[in-house]
Formats: sequence, structure tokens, C-alpha cells
Amino acid sequence: MKVQEGEDTASLLAKANATILFTAARPEIVMERGEGMYLWDTEGKRYLDFVGGWAVTCLGHSPAVIKEALERQAAILVNSSPSFYNKPMIEFAELLTELSGFDRVFFASSGAEANESAIKLARKHGAKNLGGACEIITTVNGFHGRTLAMMSATGKKHWESLFAPKLPGFKHVPFNDFDSCLAAIDRNTCAIMLELIQGEGGVHPADEEYLYRLRKTCDDYGILLIFDEIQTGLGRTGKLFAYEHYGIQADVMTLGKGIGGGFPLSAMLTKERYNIFDAGDQGGTYTGQQLAMAVGYAVVNEIVNLELPRRAERQGKYILEGLRELAEKYNIQHIRGRGLLIAFDLPEPVGAKFAAECLKEGLLVNSPNATTIRLMPPLIVSEEEIDAMFLLLCTVFDRMLVSSDSY
Ligand SMILES: *Cc1c(COP(=O)(O)O)cnc(C)c1O
Repeated sequence: MKVQEGEDTASLLAKANATILFTAARPEIVMERGEGMYLWDTEGKRYLDFVGGWAVTCLGHSPAVIKEALERQAAILVNSSPSFYNKPMIEFAELLTELSGFDRVFFASSGAEANESAIKLARKHGAKNLGGACEIITTVNGFHGRTLAMMSATGKKHWESLFAPKLPGFKHVPFNDFDSCLAAIDRNTCAIMLELIQGEGGVHPADEEYLYRLRKTCDDYGILLIFDEIQTGLGRTGKLFAYEHYGIQADVMTLGKGIGGGFPLSAMLTKERYNIFDAGDQGGTYTGQQLAMAVGYAVVNEIVNLELPRRAERQGKYILEGLRELAEKYNIQHIRGRGLLIAFDLPEPVGAKFAAECLKEGLLVNSPNATTIRLMPPLIVSEEEIDAMFLLLCTVFDRMLVSSDSY
């Protein structure tokens, strides 16, 4: 049955509870509308969004460029099939390769798919050039997605025993620990894959020296270095790509989240010498789909034109300063991050409760683990909106202080 115009929230929630497969404990609200930094639910309550659809809505909610790109392209051609080249695909591929320093791109719809493509490419390279090497080294506490292969790649403790049997061929080594990584490399290794800032892991940046040594080691052994920039890419950290902070290039880079500004889109980029797939090795019904390509082009173009990486850098500093000013009063610990990917730790493992209290106040923040609060707002966030966020945050801190003896 179609949802009725003006249908009340209780009725909508009853339908949701009866039909949506349970995969997450969702709050008893229904989101309806978004504009800029704000979301509104069906009760008309407004939320200041510092999660941004999980580091996705980089241009804010319902940006005009996405609406225009969709309308323009939908009127011309929605989907010509993955068997043909199309104009938006060519335009977007050219833009991305120019901006990224990579030569070749494969398009998909989600981050996990882009990473799967990277793993396939690494194994192809292993099969062709490294005598059948097929193992990929990833990092403990890393995150690469939720397909079965990416759950195997992800170094999350809780996932180790889930959905057995895992896909073999992944070794997890501690992040920022070069010696462990080196010790894990053998004749069967074809790639090392990592995030430049572990996002889901709680916002932990890679050390420069560590990356430099990984790059050198990959060169020495002829194995691929894969940067998963699905969360860090497209301006989030204050550069268009996080690798620019380090001046170290990977052989393969994956993008997702912000690249579509909310539209399902991802990409795997690589160098000309790894343009090695044979026909049929990789593909997908929606690779290069026109609507996605038109949106991706519009979004990335807007990120560049509005100089959003610079803005992210500036606004990120403003948030970090604000947090440092509050640190003593509220016992905030480990304030960290780069650009608009920021986290801090609470002195007690009450992250979920803290995020729930923020939601009540009309502020969306994320708690990736029991003690950590993560902020990843749209890159368009203004100082006024940051000030508004701090007001709400302090309200929650004050309330939690009163309700907890030790806090
Ligand atoms: C979100 C994320 C993914 C998975 O992306 P999906 O679109 O959910 O498949 C992979 N890697 C990193 C670093 C991410 O943050």
C-alpha cells in the first residue's frame, strides 16, 4: 500500500516494523526531507546533521546540482546497458583521472564493490605477474565493506567468526606497524590494502613514515599498494584525496561515499600498467550507468569549483579548536582528525547513549565504538552551523554530567 500523504508517524513506523528486514536498531523516527545541513522527520522536527549520511552527503542535503544533473540526464537516457560507452561515463572518467593522478577507472555503485574490484585486480596481477600470488594484507581495525569478501578483508574482531567460512587470502596486521606488515609478506602476497585514516575504526591516521615504507616495500616486491579512500576521498580530509597529505601514491585507489553526494556510486582507479583485466573478469549491470555518471560528474565538479577541500580543512580546524576549548570542562579525550573527519573519546564507554541524547536534541553525531564520537558533516558546513552544533553538544554534555556520578 502506498504511504499516504500526511500519514502519521506511528502508522509509518508500524509499517516499517512489519516489513523492513531487521539489520539495525533504528530510532523511532522517519526522515522525510533534507536541505543543506539539516534533515526533517515526519513530525517536522529538525536535525543538524554532523553524520552526513555517513560521510556521504558532501554537498549537504538535496543540493541543486544533483537535482539538475538527474533531471537533465533522465530526460536524455537513463540506462543504455553496461555493454556500451556513453557520454556521461566518458566525461566523468576524464574528470576523475585528471584530478586523481590515476589513468584508468572502473565504476560501481557501492564502496564494497569498488574494493572487490581492487582485490580482483590485485589477484589478477598476482596470477599474471607474481606466479599466482593471491594474498592481500590488510590492517587490524580497518574497514572495507560488508560483502563476504570485504568482511574477510576487514580487520574487525567482532566479524571474525561471522558468516563462516570466510574468504581465504587475507592477512590482518596491526595498523601503523611496518615490521608486522613486512613479516607478513611472503611469495603468496599480491597486495597491501589500507585506509589512510581508519574511519570506522575510530579516526586513526596512518603515519607518514609507515606509508613511505609500505610504498617502498610494494615497489621492491612488485606487489600492489591499495588505498581505500572511500571515506577519506573527495575533500573530506582537507585535500581532494587524503594521499596528497603524504605525497605517496598508491597503485590502486577506491572511492565511494562522497563521490555521489548521496547517489549510489563508487570507483576504482589504477595506473595504466594495471589495465590488465580480460573481458568478463569484472563488470556489473550498473557500471557506468548514466544517471550515476551525470551525478558523479556534477558532484565532483562542484567539490572542485567550490574549493570544498580547503573549506573542509578550515572548518575542521575550527571544530578541533572548539573541542579543545571544551576538553577540560567535559573531560574530552584524544581529540583527533583531519579536515571534516573528526573524533574524540568520552571518558566512559557511553558513546551510544551520548549519540542518542544528541539525536533527542536534534543533532546527529556518530559513535563508531563505545567511547568514541565521530563528526563527519557535509563539506559545506558553516561556522554558524558549527557553533550551533557546539551549543547542542554542550547541552548533552551538561545533562550526561548530571546523570552520571563518575563522569
Ligand atoms: C563505508 C566504507 C566502505 C564501504 O562502502 P559501502 O558503500 O558501504 O559498500 C569501504 N571502505 C571504507 C573505508 C568505508 O568507510
